[in-house]
Amino acid sequence: MTDVLNEAAAAPEFSGKIINGKAVSARIRTVVREQALAFEEKSGRKPALAVVIAGDDPASKIYVRNKKNACAEVGFTSLEFALPADVSEEELLSLIGGLNVDANIDGILVQLPLPRGIDEKKIINAISPEKDVDCFHPVNVGRLCCGDPGFLPCTPAGIMELIAATGTSVRGKNCLVIGRSNIVGKPVSMLLLAADGTVTTAHSKTVGLKEIARNADILVAAVGRAKMIDASFIKPGAVVIDVGMNRDENGKLCGDCDFESVFPVCGAITPVPGGVGPMTITMLLRNTLYAAESIFEKKKAGGE
Ligand code: NDP
Repeated sequence: MTDVLNEAAAAPEFSGKIINGKAVSARIRTVVREQALAFEEKSGRKPALAVVIAGDDPASKIYVRNKKNACAEVGFTSLEFALPADVSEEELLSLIGGLNVDANIDGILVQLPLPRGIDEKKIINAISPEKDVDCFHPVNVGRLCCGDPGFLPCTPAGIMELIAATGTSVRGKNCLVIGRSNIVGKPVSMLLLAADGTVTTAHSKTVGLKEIARNADILVAAVGRAKMIDASFIKPGAVVIDVGMNRDENGKLCGDCDFESVFPVCGAITPVPGGVGPMTITMLLRNTLYAAESIFEKKKAGGE
């Protein structure tokens, strides 16, 4: 695993217009790993992430496995709580309640989607905001909107790192985010705004999307429609971040952008796969470390 990491880190993060998410991710994981060691030295234990999964969704199982592997790679403890698909809301709430007060757990992640009949919002809202490493809890979303310190949402924070890897400053730039989901579109719009971008958030009811897009210096596509964005949407030289994870007509993984069409016009672009994808779990690791540090410092200040 270390070899793969080093290989990715050795590759340039931005070259020939391509933003290499694997390389950016590897650099950040190296820092997280060093900081995790330092944390262990002072606290006597590794940062710890609890991952809760309910049901048998194959994609969710893969995501959980990847998160556990990533934890091992940077020297975190990860604990998996696998529950049956017919788990009740009460059982889930009781598990989260226990994890909230467990002094050996820093981050809690509930893998979505949850089985039918379970109110996802209720479950997310039950996670202690100080352990909410996905940054989905309304308290953390509020902190993000107010510009207060706290967790950063994983995929949006990864997007900001990828933009930074191009050397582009967001300040004063016209930024277009296509998509307004709570997971990607809205929070990345907030982060771009916090970085002094002039931000437009588009969605399915937006009129004149192409014209708006042609004015964007930074374009983030988070729609979920294969190859919807072609060169006719792109301002020459624009930084294009393709969040979409779709299947094309041949079943091949592709983004929201038609890469072949956009590439000659843009100034920088993330590939799919290998762009935004590798960043999301890396930002989750960073948040878990942040949680561990914050909880430790709070305890110390409280004399515990
Ligand atoms: P959602 O389905 O929740 O949101 C899609 C957004 O796109 C909505 O706001 C919708 O508008 C908008 N939209 C749909 N059609 C159009 C259109 N024709 N023109 C403009 N806007 C449109 O998706 P997510 O935000 O969860 O995910 C988006 C994509 O990113 C998906 O492909 C997903 O797989 C991928 N993804 C990748 C991640 C990664 O780590 N790489 C992480 C998370 C997501 P409206 O609100 O009006 O319906």
